[in-house]
Amino acid sequence: MERQYEEPARSLAAREYDVVVAGGGTAGAVAALAAARHGAKTALIEMKGYTGGIAVEGGTALHSFYNLWKAFPGVEKRQVVRGIPQEIVDRLAQMGGTSGHAEMLKGYDYDSVCTAIDTELYKLATMQLLAEAGVSMLLNTFVAGAIAEGPQVRGVLAESRSGREAVFASAFVDCTGYGDLAAAAGAEFTEPNDYDVANSMGVGGMSIDSLYDFLVEHDALTEYSEGPRDGRQRAIRVSAAQGKLPRDFLRRAGELGLWLTTTTLHDDYLMFVKLNMRMPVSPTDRDAAAAAELELRRRQAAAIKLFREFIPGCDRAFIARTSPSLCIRRGRVICCDYDIKLDDVLGAKHFDDEVMVYGFHDAAPRFQVGRGDTYGVPYRALRVSGFDNLLAAGMMITSDHDAHMSTRNTVCCMGQGEAAGTAAALCAAKKCGTRELSSDELREALAAAGVCLEG
Ligand SMILES: Cc1cc2nc3c(=O)[nH]c(=O)nc-3n(C[C@H](O)[C@H](O)[C@H](O)COP(=O)(O)OP(=O)(O)OC[C@H]3O[C@@H](n4cnc5c(N)ncnc54)[C@H](O)[C@@H]3O)c2cc1C
Repeated sequence: MERQYEEPARSLAAREYDVVVAGGGTAGAVAALAAARHGAKTALIEMKGYTGGIAVEGGTALHSFYNLWKAFPGVEKRQVVRGIPQEIVDRLAQMGGTSGHAEMLKGYDYDSVCTAIDTELYKLATMQLLAEAGVSMLLNTFVAGAIAEGPQVRGVLAESRSGREAVFASAFVDCTGYGDLAAAAGAEFTEPNDYDVANSMGVGGMSIDSLYDFLVEHDALTEYSEGPRDGRQRAIRVSAAQGKLPRDFLRRAGELGLWLTTTTLHDDYLMFVKLNMRMPVSPTDRDAAAAAELELRRRQAAAIKLFREFIPGCDRAFIARTSPSLCIRRGRVICCDYDIKLDDVLGAKHFDDEVMVYGFHDAAPRFQVGRGDTYGVPYRALRVSGFDNLLAAGMMITSDHDAHMSTRNTVCCMGQGEAAGTAAALCAAKKCGTRELSSDELREALAAAGVCLEG
């Protein structure tokens, strides 16, 4: 038996809010903004020194604000996600930190638009919006535990260099990606370990034009779009298939889990280059995750060598940014009142209590949402089973792997965040549980805030 230590009880400093959002990533930053804008005294607890999560650490682009209209001639172009997610893009546009919704010129059976973002400006834009909304940003603070009494979460145990604190609230939203708050409170969960983990780096000294030329020369370009790049309309996204790429290059890229899909807003810089690997166990295993962190960094250095060796004009490529820790596509799946299934997604199903609509699937064109349609995310899918005041948003919902390949994408997570944050604020104001809140009232509040609820 492992050696055990009995931790002595101690008295903690306590804070009190209406709403606590755990995790300030893709979904959480939006959830906290929504809660504060609906009048809730809101705390956002984020373990890193910035907001944005995997959207700024792992991704390629924000998928997707639109339906897949370009894949289906005759289908109307519709922006199906608006609200706070669009407001973040608008703020980024003012800062020169996004391509906006640039149309895909090749590969539009995958997505109709490419919404590329500048990772560092995204962090700044979301933090500024949160500060303006009056959210208490408890950054560099780890959600280490939950204070739960039966079906009620009373508080969060938070750890920072200022010490251990109890943070109490009426309503809670778990946006930690890993479901740390829900799991600590005793919610039911599974850990499927059904995806690769990754570390995604920014590569300096290398132009997307060089990569484009290399892919075109070898008949390997599958996706392409153009948008503003350092002030001019140019290539901002490329993606590759094997094509006629050199065999040695393909073999070594395959061994590294290197994906040749990237976006950029700058000359001589690739915003995201992903290295994927499969872990033998769930990424919640600390020691296995540590081994993966080392292996992924080794692979990043090897990928740079590969670029320098094979891609003309890239002999000065270097690692300019890495993710602070490995990026996961999911850790825990938290059990909620409704579990979205692949049939719901592909069958473009809508629900009376839906709080957003969405039209992107990451395995398109193999899986598509109807024929350029949308499906709805029901409010029920955000309510953590067995708890009266706990909601979840982001990659931790949806157990069906192939349905999750849609719901886990950034823009869907952001929309879920807006719905969960709004619901939490309404519950706190009305002093009611998440199941007592009328979905009509929630939908009215979301519509008034600009959320698109039209199927
Ligand atoms: C490599 C990779 C590439 C991807 N590419 C794309 C893409 O191109 N387009 C796309 O749309 N989607 C993409 N996705 C999917 C998408 O990015 C994620 O599913 C989505 O961003 C997850 O959002 P989230 O809010 O659930 O989690 P996150 O964005 O990870 O947010 C969780 C936040 O919680 C914080 N946190 C975690 N635990 C704690 C704790 N205990 N205490 C305090 N804070 C905590 C984290 O620091 C983080 O900020 C990709 C995913 C990966 C892994």
